[in-house]
Amino acid sequence: MAETTALEATCAEAEQHMQAYLDGQLASAVALTIDRHIAGCKGCASAYRFEVKLRAYVKRCCSETDDTTRCREELRQRLERCRDIR
Ligand SMILES: [Zn+2]
Repeated sequence: MAETTALEATCAEAEQHMQAYLDGQLASAVALTIDRHIAGCKGCASAYRFEVKLRAYVKRCCSETDDTTRCREELRQRLERCRDIR
């Protein structure tokens, strides 16, 4: 494997892998670096919690529609606007 052997992912990597991480589709070695990163990075931890919440919400709200992807995107945009407000 020519993959990086770094024990920790960067924020960019965490962000890049977030969806696959949430889907449980990452190789366990990669998932582990994301795990570690989220545990030590406030920004990514809150992004992670946001995604988890979003997914739970999407499950509830979008289960009636066939277009889950679109429903999720709409929700995401709405929620991200809320997240920016301090
Ligand atoms: Zn981070």
